[in-house]
Amino acid sequence: MTDTDAVVIGAGPVGLFQVFQLGLLGLRAHVIDVLPEPGGQCAALYPDKPIYDIPGVPRCTGRELTRLLLTQAQPFLQTVDSASSNAGGPDAPGSPYANVHLGQQVSELARAEDGRWLITSDRGQQWRARAVFVAAGAGAFVPRSLNLPGLQDASNVHFHVPEAGALPWSGQHVVVAGGGDEALSTVRSLTEDTNPARRPARVTLLHRRDVFQAEPELDAAVRALIAQGRVALCVGMPTDAHATEGVVQALTILTPEEAEVPLTLDHLLIRQGMSPKLGPLTAWGMALERKQVAVNTATFETDRKSVV
Ligand SMILES: Cc1cc2nc3c(=O)[nH]c(=O)nc-3n(C[C@H](O)[C@H](O)[C@H](O)COP(=O)(O)OP(=O)(O)OC[C@H]3O[C@@H](n4cnc5c(N)ncnc54)[C@H](O)[C@@H]3O)c2cc1C
Repeated sequence: MTDTDAVVIGAGPVGLFQVFQLGLLGLRAHVIDVLPEPGGQCAALYPDKPIYDIPGVPRCTGRELTRLLLTQAQPFLQTVDSASSNAGGPDAPGSPYANVHLGQQVSELARAEDGRWLITSDRGQQWRARAVFVAAGAGAFVPRSLNLPGLQDASNVHFHVPEAGALPWSGQHVVVAGGGDEALSTVRSLTEDTNPARRPARVTLLHRRDVFQAEPELDAAVRALIAQGRVALCVGMPTDAHATEGVVQALTILTPEEAEVPLTLDHLLIRQGMSPKLGPLTAWGMALERKQVAVNTATFETDRKSVV
C-alpha cells in the first residue's frame, strides 16, 4: 500500500503533465499506466510521426514529446534508487521511476475507510490518495490478440519485447504474428540482435496474407531476411491453438489454399497493435456520457468527489 497525495490514471501526455502541475503545487503523485512505457497514444501509436501543434515546440515526434514531458516532470519523478519504498517492487521493467507504474491496469477505484480513495491495479498493487486524476484518454491500451481460446493465460504468449535484459525466447523458435510496422520491426530487431541472451534460434513471421502494411524500407528489409532464409514466412489464418499445461505448443493455420497445417513454436509474440478499452473505468461508478467521463466543466470534477 502506497500513501500519496494524488494518483494519476494514465501516463499519456495529459497524465505526465498532470504530475508536473501537481508537483508545482507541492503535491506528490503516482501515475499508473497499462502500457510498458509512458507517452500514451504518442508513444504507442505514432512514436515517429511529426507533431506540429504543441505550443512553443514547432516540430517533434510522439517519442520526443514524451521525452520532453518526462524531462519537464523530472523534478517530481522519484528515481527507483532514491525511493526505497518502491525499489525492487513489482513494477514492469521499463519504469526507472518509483512513482511511475507501468504494465498495470487500474482495475478498482473505491473509498477507503478514512474517506480517501483506494486505487487497485490488476497486479494487486494498491495506492491510497486524497485525489484521483483520470487521464485515461480513450481508455486503457491493450494489445490486440489472436481470437483463439487458450492464449489468454499461456506463459509463452507475449505482446511486448522488453527493452533490456535477457529474453525468454533466446535460443528458441519464436513465431511473430502480425503484418504491420510493429510486427515487421520486431522480426527485424530479433533477427539482427547480436546479444545471444536476446536472440531467438529461429523466427517465423505469421500473417494472414503475403502483403504487409509497413513502411517500404522496413518491408524491403524483412523481405530480404525472408529471401536469405533468416526468417520463415507462414501465410494463413490461425484457427486453433494447442496448449498443454498453460503452454502453447502449436497453432493450426488455414492456408490461402484452404489446407490446415500445424505451426509448432516455443514462443508466440503477437504484434498486432493496440486498441483502447474503456474497460474498468466503466465500473468505477462515475457518470459517463457517450463513453466519456462526465465532468463539471467549471472544476473538471466528476460526480465522485475528488475524482477529476
Ligand atoms: C495516429 C495519431 C496521430 C495523432 N497526431 C496528433 C497530433 O499531431 N497533434 C495532436 O495534438 N494530437 C494528435 N493525436 C491525438 C493525441 O495523441 C491525443 O489527443 C493524446 O494522446 C491524448 O492524450 P491523453 O494523455 O489524454 O490520452 P492517451 O494518450 O490516450 O493516454 C491515456 C493513457 O491512459 C492509459 N489508461 C487508460 N485507462 C487506464 C487504466 N484503467 N489503467 C491504466 N492505464 C490506463 C492508456 O493506456 C494510455 O496510455 C494523434 C492521435 C493519433 C492516434
